[in-house]
Amino acid sequence: MSTRLSESLHQLMHAYRSQLRDTIRRAGIDWPVTHIRVLKGIAHQPGCTAREIAGAMRADKAQITRALGELRDAQLIESQHNPNDRRSQLLQLTATGRALRLQLEHAEEAAVARLTDTLNADDLTQFMSLAQRMITNVSPASSPQESSAMPAPAQRQLEVIRTTDVSPHMKRVTLGGLKATDFPTDQASAYFKFLFPREGHDKPLMRTYTIRHQRDDEIDVDFALHEPAGLASHWAQTVQPGERIDIRGPGPKKMVNFEADWFLLVGDMTSLPAISVNLEQLPDNAQGHVVLEVTDNSDIQPLQHPPGVKLHWVIAPSADPSGQRLVDAVKQLPWLTGTPSVWAACEFNSMRALRQHFRETAEIPKSHFYISSYWKMGVNEDDHKTVKRQDTEQWEQSDGNAAQ
Ligand SMILES: Cc1cc2nc3c(=O)[nH]c(=O)nc-3n(C[C@H](O)[C@H](O)[C@H](O)COP(=O)(O)OP(=O)(O)OC[C@H]3O[C@@H](n4cnc5c(N)ncnc54)[C@H](O)[C@@H]3O)c2cc1C
Repeated sequence: MSTRLSESLHQLMHAYRSQLRDTIRRAGIDWPVTHIRVLKGIAHQPGCTAREIAGAMRADKAQITRALGELRDAQLIESQHNPNDRRSQLLQLTATGRALRLQLEHAEEAAVARLTDTLNADDLTQFMSLAQRMITNVSPASSPQESSAMPAPAQRQLEVIRTTDVSPHMKRVTLGGLKATDFPTDQASAYFKFLFPREGHDKPLMRTYTIRHQRDDEIDVDFALHEPAGLASHWAQTVQPGERIDIRGPGPKKMVNFEADWFLLVGDMTSLPAISVNLEQLPDNAQGHVVLEVTDNSDIQPLQHPPGVKLHWVIAPSADPSGQRLVDAVKQLPWLTGTPSVWAACEFNSMRALRQHFRETAEIPKSHFYISSYWKMGVNEDDHKTVKRQDTEQWEQSDGNAAQ
């Protein structure tokens, strides 16, 4: 059965590709496939960078740079200065590029129409649902908890009710209007995206945050304040009650695996909200350690936690490019006996250093290990996402090799 299925999949892909090639050729378009994919990528995400396109296509950056140069020479795309990163350019289609994109869309529709000629609407719905399930089965994920990340995230508009200073470097924004938007209940620790519209772009910029508390009609979101401020942290510092903001999500919750003998949680001010929720939900008799890096002594917060789980605060007024500071703090702690549940989220370099440390020194079941980078020094969230995806793929590959 599986052999026949693999043959059918292979033949289907081949039939679709050759139909598409034919219709594109008949439409008089003679750009190579890479150029067409790059153009479509930019149409899909206007304002993206070359690095994001290379990451999404899993292609060599030099190849993408060449294709971008040729598309630019043909006046199909244009770029403008990235206000968040002087070294990169934001890409978008020109009017000619949009016209070509439309022609490609028509060619795709024609190819699909020929391929599905004898199928009815029910057949197509069933096929798409099965195909999506198979794709999900093999999608790489940065962690078990994120594997089901927002399949079809709902978009809602919430209202800023108030802002509060949690500590000098943390601002709480309370958003209201959950009931009117059918927001799911009991989502503390789940993450979601703020959508910030951009002039001249169809797609907004997105920033990821955690639900710190959820009440009947409100959620609290705690923003780590950093310098220079980014889009989201600046918004949190300046937003006024009554303003409205679009959000997408929530995605899955990020809980530690509670079926463990002891717990180790590691993070910084960006994961302090998620760690706080986790600590509140640990059983009263839980044992373990929490290492939390904050900007200043005055950013230490009173956290509800089981008495057997000890808090260790690391004061870090400046960034740590080596990523060693959190690992050094973890190394000071005793490794307890029994099955640990380890949960860590922080800056990219620190995450990599921690991940390497755990690989070298501990045996943690995959089901009891969550590690994620929440931001990356020197790059905004959009570029961080691309780097994170590449890093996760490389790590999973090396993990597989190490296991062989
Ligand atoms: C699942 C998930 C949940 C998250 N939850 C939270 C949360 O609840 N609270 C929270 O504060 N953050 C959270 N983050 C992290 C947050 O999404 C990033 O810090 C994001 O980059 C902030 O967006 P920004 O617009 O302020 O800065 P960006 O525009 O993304 O970046 C601008 C500049 O600021 C730097 N920068 C970004 N974040 C920091 C930081 N924390 N410290 C120092 N410099 C920084 C960047 O390196 C870049 O140079 C979460 C991230 C993930 C993936």
